[in-house]
Amino acid sequence: MENPLSILKQHFGYDQFRPSQQEVINEVMAGHDALVLMPTGGGKSICYQIPALAMPGTAVVVSPLISLMQDQVEALKANGIPAEALNSGNDPNEDLIIRRRCLAGDLKLIYVSPEKLISEIPYLFRSIKISLFAIDEAHCISQWGHDFRPEYAQLGMIRQYFPQVPVMALTATADKITREDIAKQLQLHGKVFINSFDRPNLSLTVRREGQKRSKMAFIRHFIARHEGEAGIIYCLARKTTESIAADLQREGLAAAAYHAGLDAQERARVQQLFKIDQLQVVCATIAFGMGIDKGNVRWIIHYNLPKSIESFYQEIGRAGRDGAPADTVLFYSLADVIQLRKFAEESGQSEVNLMKLRRMQEYAEASVCRRRILLNYFGEEMDHDCGHCDVCQNPPHKFDGTILVQKALSAIVRAQEKIRVNTCIEILRGMTSSTVMRNHYNELKTFGVGRDTSVAKWQDYMLQMLQMGFIEIIYNQGQILHVTPLGWEVLHGQRQVQLAFVEKAVPERGSTDSRQSRRSSGRSGRGQQASMFPEVHASALHVDNGALDAELFKRLKVLRTRLATEQGLPPYIVFSDKVLQNLATIRPTTVEAFGTVSGIGNFKQQKYGEIFTKEIREYLGAH
Ligand code: ADP
Ligand code: ZN
Repeated sequence: MENPLSILKQHFGYDQFRPSQQEVINEVMAGHDALVLMPTGGGKSICYQIPALAMPGTAVVVSPLISLMQDQVEALKANGIPAEALNSGNDPNEDLIIRRRCLAGDLKLIYVSPEKLISEIPYLFRSIKISLFAIDEAHCISQWGHDFRPEYAQLGMIRQYFPQVPVMALTATADKITREDIAKQLQLHGKVFINSFDRPNLSLTVRREGQKRSKMAFIRHFIARHEGEAGIIYCLARKTTESIAADLQREGLAAAAYHAGLDAQERARVQQLFKIDQLQVVCATIAFGMGIDKGNVRWIIHYNLPKSIESFYQEIGRAGRDGAPADTVLFYSLADVIQLRKFAEESGQSEVNLMKLRRMQEYAEASVCRRRILLNYFGEEMDHDCGHCDVCQNPPHKFDGTILVQKALSAIVRAQEKIRVNTCIEILRGMTSSTVMRNHYNELKTFGVGRDTSVAKWQDYMLQMLQMGFIEIIYNQGQILHVTPLGWEVLHGQRQVQLAFVEKAVPERGSTDSRQSRRSSGRSGRGQQASMFPEVHASALHVDNGALDAELFKRLKVLRTRLATEQGLPPYIVFSDKVLQNLATIRPTTVEAFGTVSGIGNFKQQKYGEIFTKEIREYLGAH
């Protein structure tokens, strides 16, 4: 058998294994089972693909979705590896050819759905030599996981029929209960490999921002800085996805909405266009999920707060799967907290769901390194700050907000604890809204005492007050506000309050040069506001290597798109962003040098070496 490291180099173009990969591969090649937990983008596929190539026979890979299978098969074929998928999307003719090749032992890997696997056990799979079974997205087997699929439940059966064949289960999401359930149901007898769930290439940023106008202003700047880079904006409501997509389209961006209310055809269309880089932005509800295997998603924005850290981590995990840097931003607002708490209270398991939401809020409110919070949540301890989140890069500034808080609490008390957040802000700001006038709140002593603080800032301060436990929202009474005992202490002057500054300023409308306006309006009021759009979260282009030639990178991207289109492939299958970045940094001019670049195996070296090095030579000649 060939040595795993040389297979890695030859077929995938990588020089080294990532943590655990080698150990998992050795284990499986020795004929043992393995349960592999790695984050999305951690490199799970290599763990079964290398044994599949090294061992005699064909590896059977079970995957829950056709789109995932196709993606994997395309990527393997693009590296010259014989692999196919058997699924209901194939036409009968195709199916026949695949079966023949499988029976002839021509395929190193065959991908199947769980139903197909079960139904083919007495037929195809009894007739071939199987090197190993790999159960991808293995958490689907467990009711405890969040993607339970009944079809997975039968997979334990393979033990009976193929007692000698090693079984691998792989997943990116598995808490302890799910993990144990996977092992039990598949009757796994091997080791469990748990990798760090850290995704160091993802930057983490939270913006306390509630108003559509300011969120959109931020998004426009953000996208301008991620020129030509694909991203997803996750929203809570379907109509929000549509309105944001429409806004972005008006700005000339290739954007579309995606949610469960669209018909299947439209959803497939959006997914496909996104995959092949024809759409830059998808504004989606969480319905846009597991099927997206696109390697070059460069950013994720959460327009609304997710309901749990699990969901959040899974959603941001869709960025940067290729290992190149990617940016994530979460908007955090009082309105979302209110809405999500309401959902949680009304759900069947309100206690658990409220707890999950609280943990999500703690992340959003954090004044310590956000990555530490995330990893801690997943049961990992990190002994240093990451340096790659907004808290690490811009520690929050606080000020004595006692008087501000007293004003708000006093307004609530004077209105007999019968008002909602919005009315409270109207009273503070001295606004004569219909609710205010109808209830004579304009006659209260607190009416207008917070006039010089903007609505957006009040919303933010009230969110902080809620988080610090000075007020509570009574959900079953129309979301009115009550002052808590702790709040009364503040009101009575027995407690001082430190508030975090509201960090943003909305950029002027119509400013054309985002970078310019970012610099000029970034800091107003000394120390009061951190820069409006921190520069530190540079996009993929500037983080990895200072020597990257941005113009060449752009040209290589264009070439990649052309070659991908000619072959009907998504561009990231031709080469990942990471490989293009390597090329634009190293700038190889010979096919030989091209083949030494990380991520380029022998097959792609032969196939693309000439055309890419020609492009690089021409570029260098002109510069
Ligand atoms: P997962 O299935 O865990 O989400 P993948 O197997 O798709 O992750 O791998 C994510 C990315 O990391 C891919 O671009 C893959 O080629 C790359 N990768 C995997 N193993 C290595 C390695 N040893 N060295 C460099 N890159 C790797
Ligand atoms: Zn950090």
